[in-house]
Amino acid sequence: MSQAAKNTTPDITPNSEQNSSDSNGFPYRVPEHFLQQIDHSNPQDPLLKQVKPSRLEEVTTLGFSKDPVEDLDSNPIPSLIHKYHGRVLLIASPKCDIHCRYCFRRHFPYSEQSNLRHWQKAIEYIKTNQSVHEVILSGGDPMALGEKVLVKLINQVESIAHVKTLRIHSRTPVAAPDKAPFQAFVSWAQQSKLNKVLVVHCNHPNELSDQTQKLFTSYKQAGITLLNQSVLLKEVNDSIDILEALSHKLFSQGVLPYYLNQLDRVQGSAHFEVDDETAIELHNKLKRRLAGYLVPKLVKDIPNQGSKTALC
Ligand code: SF4
Repeated sequence: MSQAAKNTTPDITPNSEQNSSDSNGFPYRVPEHFLQQIDHSNPQDPLLKQVKPSRLEEVTTLGFSKDPVEDLDSNPIPSLIHKYHGRVLLIASPKCDIHCRYCFRRHFPYSEQSNLRHWQKAIEYIKTNQSVHEVILSGGDPMALGEKVLVKLINQVESIAHVKTLRIHSRTPVAAPDKAPFQAFVSWAQQSKLNKVLVVHCNHPNELSDQTQKLFTSYKQAGITLLNQSVLLKEVNDSIDILEALSHKLFSQGVLPYYLNQLDRVQGSAHFEVDDETAIELHNKLKRRLAGYLVPKLVKDIPNQGSKTALC
């Protein structure tokens, strides 16, 4: 970290974690790599805004809740969410390398939902549900589990004959590519018969670096399909130029833009919200600027809809 960085952001240190009133019970955590991508001379830096705790998180807003997508209503056993046909989501990890201030699971009861004992029950559930053809590892961040544990879990999923696709949702490859699983994970991917999908989570082109490029190339060569989902965030990426640049940069690194999500209305995140009308207007402009395959779908997660709801 540069001296300038130390001087301008004294309260943000790599992987720092503190319980303080201004973090509103959600400790701040920033990995070294992400920290280096921040322009520390700019207090409005779009990456800094995603990780720096704000007093605005303490504001209670009508229409926002602790479980905005109602995960816990589709939770037949701890650690497993079965909301959509043919797919289940396994809460593989209770932790993340980075804490995003807008996180929709910032209030999720991980201690009750994610541990080895629960995984075994989740694996049993998937085994007995023949309709499940896709398992999604989520969290927290499954890649924050550490490579050995992650590959062990993946092998258990792969041993179930009716599972054809493994999808991993992770912010680690973007936020902390130096910590992302590599050797054993790539070896597993090279020989696995499963369809393998990695959905990275990148909100701004400044998050992409030479290190992310190298990592994505290795993953792609190992047969993993790379997609991106972003969250539309006020004063972070709610600009046509930024969204256009993001799609181009993702594609140049081998990642296809997949979803542009409207914010899940979790309590403490209202200051990040972009209204639907503005979001649709931005998306329409994006369609006019980009080839179709570079335009992510603008979606919103509305509870009990059976799938994400397209806004365009
Ligand atoms: S990485 Fe994902 S799960 Fe973790 S804090 Fe960020 S948004 Fe939430």
